[in-house]
Amino acid sequence: MLSSFDLFKVGLGPSSSHTTGPMKAALRFVHYLAAQMQAQKVHKLDVRLYGSLALTGAGHHTDRAVLLGLSGLRPETLIPSDADAAIAAIQKSQTLMLGGKIKIDFDPKADIRFEGQTSLPFHTNGLRFNAFNGDGDLIASRIYYSVGGGFVVDEDEAGRNARDDVTITPKHPFTNSEELLAQADEAGLSIAQVMLENECAHRPRAEVLAGLDDIWGHMQASMNHGLRREGMLPGTLKVRRRAPGLYLKLRVNNPDPKQSCERSDWVNLWAMAVNEENASGGRVVTAPTNGAAGVLPAVINYYQHFVPGADGDGVRNFLLTAAAIGGLYKRNASISGAEVGCQGEVGVACSMAAGALAAVLGGTNAQIENAAEIGMEHNLGMTCDPVGGLVQIPCIERNAFGAAMAIQAARLALLGDGKHAISLDEVIKTMFETGRDMSTKYKETSQGGLAVNIVEC
Ligand code: SF4
Repeated sequence: MLSSFDLFKVGLGPSSSHTTGPMKAALRFVHYLAAQMQAQKVHKLDVRLYGSLALTGAGHHTDRAVLLGLSGLRPETLIPSDADAAIAAIQKSQTLMLGGKIKIDFDPKADIRFEGQTSLPFHTNGLRFNAFNGDGDLIASRIYYSVGGGFVVDEDEAGRNARDDVTITPKHPFTNSEELLAQADEAGLSIAQVMLENECAHRPRAEVLAGLDDIWGHMQASMNHGLRREGMLPGTLKVRRRAPGLYLKLRVNNPDPKQSCERSDWVNLWAMAVNEENASGGRVVTAPTNGAAGVLPAVINYYQHFVPGADGDGVRNFLLTAAAIGGLYKRNASISGAEVGCQGEVGVACSMAAGALAAVLGGTNAQIENAAEIGMEHNLGMTCDPVGGLVQIPCIERNAFGAAMAIQAARLALLGDGKHAISLDEVIKTMFETGRDMSTKYKETSQGGLAVNIVEC
């Protein structure tokens, strides 16, 4: 079972699968070399990016992420401006410090190869690292897969059962929403309480609560940065950041969102602020991915500003409920746009936020499950066609729509009694099958959809 702290990870934008994941894969290769006692012998490296990682890797900063990981840097602690400096130093010197310790020659342009015509068998987001000694002999080679949301598996884990991410031994085990509801009913607990007791099997309660507060703190920080940073986003599209201007406009009308009638404008703003921060390579929290990182913070802010009695416990319950739902998608389908399209990213975020909002608005477990189901049902089939291979168009606005749909889904579910025709498990299965059937050109390759119908400047 997945812990909330595996699902909500602090990392660098613009993509959890194409930036954070490859950075972690490169770091894992460094650790692998050390474990094999080969690190000191490395004279040269080459890195190959396959499938979607190659096709949209340049716009998603995959090559930069690989350089940072090989240098021993971690996505959760690296400051974005330090990342820029580290990349510039490697490019200028044509060397890198492997694991931060061993200097080797490395020409990023020649030594990282984009092989978009080749896909490795387990997942389209494959990377291979080859290490050579001074005689040019291959001394180590390893394949990793970045399977979405910053999760990485190596070639052995992929061969066994990569979907089995056992990270906590839960008090209330569940593998699908039917079991989750049954566990909660049997114990007389809410979904958030089930998740909290499961987390507490792994670490002290105070640590769990502090960790949830920390996640919310990072989400707020990314939003606040996005609200204030003016200018253009990186890349060829010349997309201007809209959040600071929109923020100014809304504050002129009413400085306190709580007093504002324009609630949907504020929700749009909060979601877009996070995703503009993500698109600029800033620090965000995967929820469940970087590309979909704006949906949950925007809906939590909606709860905090517009729901009477909202408090810190409510935010924690929101995150726990969302994590329980997100874990079902990760386990039984996919949260990778390269595997199932954007329904697996913004669609899943919408479903998580819908269920979580229903929870903090006082919904029963059945209504929560209903809200999460509605949140996905109307995102089924949503493709991933990022223009220019950047996580900007349609991604930034799409988060605003994901947040708005989540609020609608929660409200709709709360008007009912929790009984409904399609279960969350059925919609998760449908999403996965739809993703499997979707043409590759609509799965984070920038070979279809908007990506081929918009002329880049
Ligand atoms: S379209 Fe959706 S899945 Fe694709 S990069 Fe953008 S946010 Fe991610």
